[in-house]
Amino acid sequence: MYDAGNSGSYANTNGHANGHANGHTNGHIHKAGQYEGFETALLERPNGAAHRHGYPLLSQPANRTAEERKQAVEGAVREILMNVGEDPDRQGLQRTPHRVAKMWGEVLEGYEIDPVALVNGALFDVEYDEMVVVKDIEFFSMCEHHMLPFFGRAHVAYIPSDKVIGLSKIPRIVDMFARRLQVQERMTQEIAAMLEEVLGPQGVAVVVEGSHMCGMMRGVEKEHSRMVTTAMRGQFKTDRELRNEFMSHLQRPSGELR
Ligand SMILES: [Zn+2]
Repeated sequence: MYDAGNSGSYANTNGHANGHANGHTNGHIHKAGQYEGFETALLERPNGAAHRHGYPLLSQPANRTAEERKQAVEGAVREILMNVGEDPDRQGLQRTPHRVAKMWGEVLEGYEIDPVALVNGALFDVEYDEMVVVKDIEFFSMCEHHMLPFFGRAHVAYIPSDKVIGLSKIPRIVDMFARRLQVQERMTQEIAAMLEEVLGPQGVAVVVEGSHMCGMMRGVEKEHSRMVTTAMRGQFKTDRELRNEFMSHLQRPSGELR
């Protein structure tokens, strides 16, 4: 028997107020529990309910199932093949739309990752106020202007106030923002902004070094195909010595940090 009493959100579909109180947004804040501040900050952004860090929420367009969206991408890839002068039915191309749709699902997987769930359970209270550095985080992203890869390394530092984050989470945060259509400048800022929101640290620094296929392949802007972007917040913005200390960590070859 269907037990309306246990179903929560659907117990009273006519009661508007009740329906709202049990709606997705409140449910989510409640689930996030100890990180309410972070969730609230996300929701306060313009169109907060539908956007996170300025991005459309998961699974757009919302009225299509995952399978319908995948098929639409396959159809679009087939259209591209035909319109660049190819025969999409020749043997080598028959499964190409399928493979491309699957691959895009993977390289753009960041849209499907919930940032709140990602950090949940990985924040720890500590008395530690020295610089934490995680460097040489490999990333692969897709430039939003050409849908071609850019890739390289991200380096992250922060100075805790009272919280630290599990070390494995920082590469996962980088990955979440990388696996979207991006420009490197914004990706750098987003990584810094998320750490700032989650940790409330005394300072955050992010340096990203990226090589851009769109510049490399076309050969027109060779000097722009390798790019370094930075985001300095809090003490890293105001304290030049601290900034230099972080930068000096990056000069050393990997493996010599400690
Ligand atoms: Zn590009």
